[in-house]
Amino acid sequence: MLERARPHERGALHLFDDDGREFLDAVAGIGSAPLGHAHPDWVAACHAQLQRLVSTSNAYRTGPQQALAAALRERYPIPDARVFFCNTGAEASEAAIKLALRATGRDTIIAFERAFHGRTLGALSLTANPSYRAPFVRCPGDELEHAFCSARVLRVPFGDLGAARACLEREGDRVAAVFLETVQGEAGVFPATREFLIGLRRECSARGALLGADEVQCGAGRTGAWSAWSAIVGDDPALAPDLLWLAKGLGGGLPIGACLARGALAEAMAPGSHGTTFGGNPLACAAALATIEIIERDALLAQAGAQMPTLREIAAIKPISAVHELRGLGAMIGIQIGAIAEQRASALTRALAEEHGVLVTVCGGHTVRLLFPYRAGRAELEQVWDALAACLRDS
Ligand code: PMP
Repeated sequence: MLERARPHERGALHLFDDDGREFLDAVAGIGSAPLGHAHPDWVAACHAQLQRLVSTSNAYRTGPQQALAAALRERYPIPDARVFFCNTGAEASEAAIKLALRATGRDTIIAFERAFHGRTLGALSLTANPSYRAPFVRCPGDELEHAFCSARVLRVPFGDLGAARACLEREGDRVAAVFLETVQGEAGVFPATREFLIGLRRECSARGALLGADEVQCGAGRTGAWSAWSAIVGDDPALAPDLLWLAKGLGGGLPIGACLARGALAEAMAPGSHGTTFGGNPLACAAALATIEIIERDALLAQAGAQMPTLREIAAIKPISAVHELRGLGAMIGIQIGAIAEQRASALTRALAEEHGVLVTVCGGHTVRLLFPYRAGRAELEQVWDALAACLRDS
């Protein structure tokens, strides 16, 4: 049972359990603690906001909410963005689904194989993994086509532009949107290519369908740029998605989500079409603002961006034969272990924690995922790599 963080003036990378054992934390709240734990400046900003104003409901505007919306507009590639605030990644996906259906008046969303967009019912309809979906979302007739909310969801292989184009052509003006994770996370860390993203942008524009980027896991600076979209495609507004949504790292550890939409689209949502009591509350917004400030002040985007190249260097010096592939961008890293069975994956995470004091998750069945706080560097990456080498040698 985890109890507390080891205090550090730049945010803790280590946690203690209730027996006083220490762990290097490469899970970081599944990417929700980009500053590490209990960063003193983040704590101070939250504390100051706690004493000022915490909860107003979203019926009112507040200073932190306005400031955060402006900060996101400056940093994310959505032209003339309007921002809807919520509390989690799944809620941000729900907002994007509702907005796409309402703004286009169409009924179909194209999602991708291996996609993860959350576990609420609308988001679950887009999530691919049948073990998450099957007990809750009916699949009438065709297994690839199902409707839980008012949308039909069709699924094509991730990275296959031809399949996406064929689906868009076949479905014509039924398609409200194409939604994808810019870097698929739960699937095993698969970044989209620039060609795929630009191709989808062109296909969607040609057919009046919206393009939505779920950056719940890969946004908020994790890839070394504020958005993974910018890291992969750049900042050309003509190539930007219509919708982009965030959560996890955005609040630096407190729950907050945000869905950014091109200005004209957001007009489709009339007052009352969507809302949430806690969404964009002053505390979560102040926490998110402090997170952005600290990331920029301490040049943490560059540090996040350096993690993947550093791990590649370590891997080149000390190769592990059981590692089949390294994938990722910046501080979103997947280490694919060859032919590892599900039960071995959980044995591996347990051995890493119990024998080597290293916390990681396994995603996509056989990929060890590192979502370190952004300031983690060579020493921490090497510690994980050496622990992995020892575990895989022993097994
Ligand atoms: N979208 C993506 C891409 C995610 O990785 C996740 C969480 N793993 C979600 C949505 C759902 O976020 P939450 O758990 O905050 O609802």
